[in-house]
Amino acid sequence: MKGFISHIVDQLPSDDLDKFHKYAFVFPSRRACYYFREALLERFPEETFWVPNILSIEDFIVRCTGKSISNEIDLLFALYAAYSDTYLPPPEGEIDKEELPTFDRFYAWGQVLLKDFDEVDRHLVNAREIYRNLDQLQQLESRYQDNEEVLFALKRFNRMMGNEPTTLTVNFINQWSRVSKTYHSYKNHLNSNNLYYSGMLYRQLAEQLANGSINVPFDKVVFAGFNALSKSEEVIIGSLLTNDAATIYWDADRLYMEHEVEEAGKFMRRNYKKWPPSEQVHWVITDMLKDPKRIQLIGGVQAVGQAQVVGQLLAELSEEQQQSCGVVLADEGLLFPLLFALPENIQSLNVTMGYPTKHSHWFGLANAYMEYQLHLRGKAHNAYAEASYVTDLISNPLMQRALPSLKQFSSALNTKSKWVAVSAFIASGSPETLKLAMTPKDRVSDLISSLVEMMMSIYQKLRLDQQLGDLETEFAYHSLKHLMQLEERIQKHHQQLEPRTLARLIIQAFEQLKIPFSGEPTKGLQLMGFLETRALDFERVILVSANEGKLPRGNRHTSYIPYAIRKAFKLPTFEEQDAIYAYHFKRVLQRAKDIIVLYNTEVAIDGSGEKSRFIWQLIESFPKESISQHVYQMSLSKSPASATLDIQKSSKVVEMMQRFLVGIGEEKSLSPTAIRHYLDCSLRFYFRYLVRIREREKESKELDPRDFGNIVHHGLERLYQPLTGETVSRDRIKELLDSQVITEAVDWAIKNHFKKSSFSVIEGKDLLHEQIIQKLIYKVVEKDLREAPFTLTGTEIKITSDLEFSPGKVVRLEGTLDRVHTTNETHHIVDYKTGKVDLKNLNRPVFPEGGLDYVQTHFDEPRFKSGFQSLFYGYLWSKTRGNTQVKLGVYPLKKVNEGIQWLNHGQVIPIAGFSEFEKQLTQVLQELFDETVPFTQTDDTDRCRYCAYKEICQR
Ligand code: SF4
Repeated sequence: MKGFISHIVDQLPSDDLDKFHKYAFVFPSRRACYYFREALLERFPEETFWVPNILSIEDFIVRCTGKSISNEIDLLFALYAAYSDTYLPPPEGEIDKEELPTFDRFYAWGQVLLKDFDEVDRHLVNAREIYRNLDQLQQLESRYQDNEEVLFALKRFNRMMGNEPTTLTVNFINQWSRVSKTYHSYKNHLNSNNLYYSGMLYRQLAEQLANGSINVPFDKVVFAGFNALSKSEEVIIGSLLTNDAATIYWDADRLYMEHEVEEAGKFMRRNYKKWPPSEQVHWVITDMLKDPKRIQLIGGVQAVGQAQVVGQLLAELSEEQQQSCGVVLADEGLLFPLLFALPENIQSLNVTMGYPTKHSHWFGLANAYMEYQLHLRGKAHNAYAEASYVTDLISNPLMQRALPSLKQFSSALNTKSKWVAVSAFIASGSPETLKLAMTPKDRVSDLISSLVEMMMSIYQKLRLDQQLGDLETEFAYHSLKHLMQLEERIQKHHQQLEPRTLARLIIQAFEQLKIPFSGEPTKGLQLMGFLETRALDFERVILVSANEGKLPRGNRHTSYIPYAIRKAFKLPTFEEQDAIYAYHFKRVLQRAKDIIVLYNTEVAIDGSGEKSRFIWQLIESFPKESISQHVYQMSLSKSPASATLDIQKSSKVVEMMQRFLVGIGEEKSLSPTAIRHYLDCSLRFYFRYLVRIREREKESKELDPRDFGNIVHHGLERLYQPLTGETVSRDRIKELLDSQVITEAVDWAIKNHFKKSSFSVIEGKDLLHEQIIQKLIYKVVEKDLREAPFTLTGTEIKITSDLEFSPGKVVRLEGTLDRVHTTNETHHIVDYKTGKVDLKNLNRPVFPEGGLDYVQTHFDEPRFKSGFQSLFYGYLWSKTRGNTQVKLGVYPLKKVNEGIQWLNHGQVIPIAGFSEFEKQLTQVLQELFDETVPFTQTDDTDRCRYCAYKEICQR
C-alpha cells in the first residue's frame, strides 16, 4: 500500500535536493511531519542533503511571523486587565451599579472569551461588526429574542457570572458591549507586551501576505494533507499559490468527491472548485470502493469490552503486521483500559497521543495536597482536617515510598472521628516533607510554593533511592517543570487568585499535559487519537469507540457567539465539526485493506451513544460481502487480555492480603462491611482494602448522612451507656424522655463528633439537623418503652473472634454492636440504621425449615445487607458468649415510628443458623485467599451505580 505521504515524496524531483533546505513542507499535525521525514530519508538513502523545514501549520505560522504563542495564564490575566478597564467609575454623584467580577469568577468565562477571540481572528471576522456596540446589540436582541440559541447563550453567561435571572438580558447586552471594547484594547495591550494567542498570528500573517507586506522565509512552501481550512489559512495558502511560492497536495476519494450527500466531502468539493488540479495544485484521489477491503464491525461492552477485543485482535498479529497497524481511539478515555489490555507480543508501541499526566501518581499527589489544604478548618497548629483528605494525601504511593516512617501516623487516623488534628502531623520529629504538605497555608503563593517544594523533595528522595521507573521519572520531570512554570506565573498574579482557582489551574495544567512519546515515533504499533490520523495511512486500521457523541463528537461548541451569529459570520458550527470528523473517518480508511471498527453496545438510557452513523454509511457504501458484523460475547473473566480490570493475585497482591492473617501480617480485622464489599464486587474490595483507595467525601460543610448517623449513634450511647448492667424499667426510660437530657446528649455527641471545642461547625442548616436528631432520639427512647423492662447488657460493644478458614490460615473478624439488652435470658442485639433498610421475610419465622436458604440469600443479595450485618453480629456474639439465646433486630431510623424490626419474626435464631453462617463465611474467605481466583468486576452493573470506583472501572 502506498500512502499519501509516500505519494508526495515520490513526486519530489531529486534535482531539487540541494534546494531542500530552503523549502518548507507543511502538514496539519506534527505526527505527519515525522512520517514525512522518515519517508524522505527512505526515498533518498544514498544522497547527502539538508533535510528541509518540515513543520506543522502552527509552527509554520510562528516561523513566518517570528512570534511565539503565549502561555494561556498570561493571556487570561491580560484579558482580565483589559476587561477590568471597561468598568469605568460612575460620574460623580452616581452609584456604581455594576460590580467588576473577581478574577476567580471571571476565569471560566475568560477562557471561553479567549477561545472566541481566537476563532474570530483565525476566520478573519470583522471584530467590530460581530461585537457590536450596545445600540446595535439591542436591535440584535429584539431580532433574535425568540431564538433559542441566543437565549441559551444569555443563560449560560448569567450562570457563569452569578447574575440574577431578572437582569439577564441587560447584563448580557452590557457584557457584549464590554467585549467589543475589551477585544480592541486587549489586542493593543498584547501587541505592546509581545503576547500572542494563536488566532492573532494567523490573522496577522494572512493580512500581511494579502497586502504584500511580508515575505515568508522559504523559497517554496509545500502544503499537504489539509481539509477544512480556516479563512486565514485560505488567504495564506491562496496568496502563496498566487505568488508561485507554494504547491499543495490534497488527499481525497471518489466516494465523497462525487456524491454531494457525503458530508465527508463538504470541504474537499469546495476546495476542488476553488483550486482545481494545476501544476501547483495536486489532487491525489483514490477509489476506495474499487479496492478490495475486509471490514469488520464489532460491538463490545463498554470501554473494557472494547479494550479486550482490541487486545485479542492484536495478539493475533505478527510483528510485521503490527508495524502497519494503527489503533485509533475516537475516545481518548480508552487509552488506559487499552494499555492494560495489550497482549505480550507487542514488541514496540507508540502512543502518539502522549500519556496524560493526570493518570499519574504525581497528579494524584498534587490533587490530594490541594484538596487537603482547601478543606482545612481552623488556623495553623489549631487546624483540623477531614480524615479522608489526610488519608488521600499520606497514602499516595509516592509519599509512602519516599517516607516509610508515615506508617506511624496511621494511628492518628484510626479513630472513628471524621476530623483529625493537624498538629499530630507537623510536630517536631515529623519528616520535613510531611510538614511541608500538612502545614496550613493561607496565601495562594505559599500554597503553590510548598506544593512544588514538597514534590521536588519526594522526587529527589525517590531518585536517590532508585525507586522511580522510566515512565515515572518522565511524569515527574514534566509535572514539576509545568508546576514550576505555573508557580512563576502565580507569583506574578497571586493577589488576584483564590485557592480554589489555583486548584483549578493545577488540575487544568495536568489535564493538558501529556508526556511526549519517546523512541522512534514511526516504528511499532501506533496507538493514536482520532485527529492524529491526519495525512497518515495504515494497511490495517482498528478504530475504537465508533459511537454517536464520540464519532462525530456532537455539539460541543463552547462559545458565547450564538449559532445564528456564527452562521452569519461564517464561523464554524457543529455541522462543520461533523463534516471534519466524517472526512477523517473516511480518509483513514480509504487506503486500508483491513478495517475493524469497534463500538460500544451499551446505549445510554437517554438514547445517546448509539452506533455511529458513520458505521451505517459504511454498510450502505460497501458491498455486503466485504463487511462482517458481530457482537463480542466474551466473558470478561475468561479473556487472556482481561488484565484491564481483573486483578490477578500476584505475589505482591498475596503479600498485601497477608495483612488480614493472624500471626502473619498486621492482623487487620475484617468487618461485616468489608465482607459485604467483597460479596458485592471483589474488585471493589481490592480497591478499598488492599490498595486503600479511599472514597471521596462531599465538599459541603453541612452535615452529611455519615455525620448524621454517627451523631445519632453517639447520642443514644450517651443516654444509655450509664444504664449498662441495670434493669431498665419503664419509669427509668421515662426519665430519659426529658428534653433537657436529650439535648445534653445530642450536644455532647456533636461536640464529640466534631471536636466542637476547637472550632465551630454548628451553624445554619446544621442547627436544624441538631433539632431533627433530638426528635429522632426522643422517638427511639419512646419506642423503647415497649421493650422495657430489660437489662442493658451494653452499648457500642466491640467483639472480635478468630476464624480458621483453611488449615493454618486464620482471620480476625470484628463487629461493633450498637446495643444489646437482655430479657428472660435472651440477648437482643439491635443495630441502628440511618440508611435504607430492606429485610427479608419479616412476617414469618424462617428457622428451622427455610433457615439455610435464608442465610444463603443474605450472602447473595446486596439489598439484604442490614440483615447480613445482624447475622454477622449474632454469629460473633454466639461464638464469643457461648450457647446463648439471641434475637436480632434492626432499628431503621428513617421509620422510627415502626420501632425495632426483628429478624425471624422476632424469634430466637437457632445455633444451626449461625453454624450455617460460619460455613458460608468460610467458603467466602477461602475464595478471597485463593491465589487462583482474581479480583474481578461484578457483572451486575446496578452494584456500580453508587460505587466510588466507577471512574476507574468506566462503569
Ligand atoms: S464500579 Fe462496579 S465493577 Fe468497579 S469496583 Fe465498583 S462495583 Fe466493582
